[in-house]
Amino acid sequence: MTRMRTGAACIAAFALAIVAKAQTLSPTPSAATAQASLPNATAALQIKYVRDSAEYAALTGQTFRQAQAAIARALPPADQQVVWCAVLDIDETVLDNSVYQLERAAYGLPYDPASWLAWTSREEAAAVPGATEFAAQVHGMRGRIAYISNRTEAERQATLANLAAKCLWKNGDLLCLATDSKAYTKEARRKELRASTGPCSWSGVVPKILVFLGDQIGDFPAGDEETEAKDPAAFGTRYFLLPNPMYGGWAAKVTRHY
Ligand SMILES: [Mg+2]
Repeated sequence: MTRMRTGAACIAAFALAIVAKAQTLSPTPSAATAQASLPNATAALQIKYVRDSAEYAALTGQTFRQAQAAIARALPPADQQVVWCAVLDIDETVLDNSVYQLERAAYGLPYDPASWLAWTSREEAAAVPGATEFAAQVHGMRGRIAYISNRTEAERQATLANLAAKCLWKNGDLLCLATDSKAYTKEARRKELRASTGPCSWSGVVPKILVFLGDQIGDFPAGDEETEAKDPAAFGTRYFLLPNPMYGGWAAKVTRHY
């Protein structure tokens, strides 16, 4: 079982990472997200891209740095005491579960909930390249992170331990998970966050949300969910998309309508 790191240990690990300038390899999947059964050769290449390619790590690092720059531009003045946050998905956004994908592919098996639960219980997901540095910057600037994930409540403790082990969690952050209710979508949880009521909120505190990061379109506000979402240039300014060639709604249907 992974031990939780203390804040000091995370700072030390972060400093070492900067000195070494090492680019971490990443691993992959998500719970409720559709994962298509792809031909083995195709799936193997997609997993390899995430785990082994310089391009994947460059893309994720680039995305996190752009999000950091967006935060720096939008940061409320310190004297205003504004509570601000970044809203992040977990799987293939900050935690890399490609080991799970690799293990399933080795046996020619698709994703299934039982094997996924067994995987997350191991608390062995790596950090997506750039994620730890991003979290350190948010926390260092007195920001908070609201994780909105379709992992389930049964996975809460293991998820917290995995996030903490990778220096992605700080007391005061929020972990909003799925429930048995299909109505409790990510959109519903984002609504609670903005309204400051319900399980997915800092009760009574309305945060200023500076950025959203995710690997699926559903990780981002859409339509008239928030005023700013009507801006077609939201991606790259407030929304930051991480690549995920291994699974997603796109694998089973056409999701691009333009
Ligand atoms: Mg995800």
